[in-house]
Amino acid sequence: MPTLRVSRFCFAPLLVMLSAACFAQAPVPEPVTDQETELGQAVYKQLRDKVEIIDSSPLYDSLKPIADAITRVAQSRYPHPFKFFLVHEAQPNAFATPGGNVYVVDSLLYFVKNTEQLAGTLCHEVSHTIHRDGIALMEKEKKIEEREVAAAILLGPTRAHIIAIALIGKLHQLGYSRDAESKADVTGSDICAGAGYNPWGLPWLFQDFQNADISQIPQLLSDHPANGTRIQTLEKHFQDNPSTFSKFDHDPKSATPFSVSKDAPVIFLRAETKGGK
Ligand SMILES: [Zn+2]
Repeated sequence: MPTLRVSRFCFAPLLVMLSAACFAQAPVPEPVTDQETELGQAVYKQLRDKVEIIDSSPLYDSLKPIADAITRVAQSRYPHPFKFFLVHEAQPNAFATPGGNVYVVDSLLYFVKNTEQLAGTLCHEVSHTIHRDGIALMEKEKKIEEREVAAAILLGPTRAHIIAIALIGKLHQLGYSRDAESKADVTGSDICAGAGYNPWGLPWLFQDFQNADISQIPQLLSDHPANGTRIQTLEKHFQDNPSTFSKFDHDPKSATPFSVSKDAPVIFLRAETKGGK
């Protein structure tokens, strides 16, 4: 036994060094423990099979401090660990799935002008998970889905796999109701405020949409006629809760500029590299 104990202590510093060296890497998904993580895993595998998940990139160094701060505040409100993955898609976007995984499209990091806008988007996505909006979205269209699932299962894939494909589609086409979006904005602003990020970041992002090329607007946040309402809902929430929000400056000039190298190298996750079962 003493030998074992010695070798364990010898390895401890090495492990610390290794984890520091792996700082710019994607997290490992949670093992499946229930329906939510099963669905989350199925989406993860689907994205991995499409070679969209970025396994390693210096971009993670920019994302991680913000994701960690948000997780510290939000984690007590959801039973599975939040994990943030970078994915590569043409349009700036972010989406969250049941089970705690949050996907951030790399081009969103190029689109946002400041840390508060990025934090606001991540707080919003985490809130969809806390509210279980993804699960509700799938249940809403259960009848159609049941037919699709029944037909597809005959062809071989698992039920979770089929639902995952449907969910990815929905998450990419403004599947949530405006009410669900506004609620995610409000909860997200509470989380961002708790994490120390100015919750005006999201209204600033909506305002920037007005001037942006439509193809560059993050899809989940581009519900245009409703953006004004969403800003008003947030402003009212800020006014109604001055003890939380009055300390934050509404002027975008007070924002913390955010920029990442445009030519950051990325290595994509492939089935054989990690979590590939
Ligand atoms: Zn949303």
